[in-house]
Amino acid sequence: MKYDLLIVGAGLYGAVYARQAADRGKKVLVIDRRPHIAGNVYTKAIEGIQVHQYGAHIFHTNEKRVWDYVNRFAVFNRFTNSPVANYKGELYSLPFSMYTFNRMWGVVTPDEARARIEAQRREITGEPRNLEEQAISLVGRDIFEKLIKGYTEKQWGRDCADLPAFIIKRLPVRFTFDNNYFNALYQGIPIGGYTKMVSRMLEGIEVRLSTDYFENRAELDGLAERVVYTGPIDAYFSYALGHLAYRSVRFETELLDIPNFQGNAAVNYTDRETSWTRIIEHKWFEFGKDEEGNDLPKTVISREFSSEWQPGDEPYYPVNDGQNGALYAEYKKMADREKRVLFGGRLGEYKYYDMDQVILSALKRADETL
Ligand code: UDP
Repeated sequence: MKYDLLIVGAGLYGAVYARQAADRGKKVLVIDRRPHIAGNVYTKAIEGIQVHQYGAHIFHTNEKRVWDYVNRFAVFNRFTNSPVANYKGELYSLPFSMYTFNRMWGVVTPDEARARIEAQRREITGEPRNLEEQAISLVGRDIFEKLIKGYTEKQWGRDCADLPAFIIKRLPVRFTFDNNYFNALYQGIPIGGYTKMVSRMLEGIEVRLSTDYFENRAELDGLAERVVYTGPIDAYFSYALGHLAYRSVRFETELLDIPNFQGNAAVNYTDRETSWTRIIEHKWFEFGKDEEGNDLPKTVISREFSSEWQPGDEPYYPVNDGQNGALYAEYKKMADREKRVLFGGRLGEYKYYDMDQVILSALKRADETL
């Protein structure tokens, strides 16, 4: 056969696995349905600004192995994510910290903040069973109502009581004035964009873009001994057991002839009425400067709208509720019987992975299987 490996999908999982395979002397072909590499971390320059075409991606990790690995392919800046929440014109600092508690209740000390939350979380007795109970148990009802409920319902298109608790546990709760959104030792944005980083991962590896696996399946399968598939697992099996749910995101991106629209990379609109979930102002991921350090005169913003995935949309987030979890388990059994194929990544494993977790899982899988 012409190749040892066919890798379906040039996103982070595919690119990392491909790199590891090529470094071990394997002959690899990477294909992607879209006309570009890098999957949903794809960035493209507009007026000197790296625009995150599929939404904000802020790299963060606690894994030294992952941090060392990505630093082989990019230099990272010192960006630290500190989103602002806009609730009907009231601005709150995220994640939940002393800044948030002070703005919400006027409390000044950590003890006062704890006392407020303690009083409000009493309504939850026992182990939280869903996102709503988990949120109230972590930060109380006031914060749930103003900063979580509306945003979450827009983001997931489901009631907070019907969503898994783990989703809200992604966010730190701190009784300090630290508004770093992530609990991560290492954080930053690759200078020059994610596309450049992924293209360096794929250096020397054959990549065919605008190539749909399903349109050329027999021919492509015939090219390689083994397949690494990073697309949606249900699509691989032609939806034989039915569709898994995904959330999709649509962006309305505008170039504005002003230097500063909102003063921050991310502003979340946490009320239910505003139709978008957040606005990203891309230049602030790189401190508003071009590569020579000059201030950029214009700005690019993206309004983000969340919707239930429909055929033809890009899938972004798996919906890890009970029903979909059970359906995924059935697909996983089918996947385990495909001896020639590995399934990986957010879509291949139907898992709400962060970038670093995707990279780590690809590295480990490469260690085990190459
Ligand atoms: N979330 C929220 N309010 C916010 C930001 C996040 O309620 O202002 C909740 C929401 O349920 C969201 C989850 O926290 O889905 C995880 O947010 P994160 O920012 O990690 O999501 P991502 O950036 O992956 O979309």
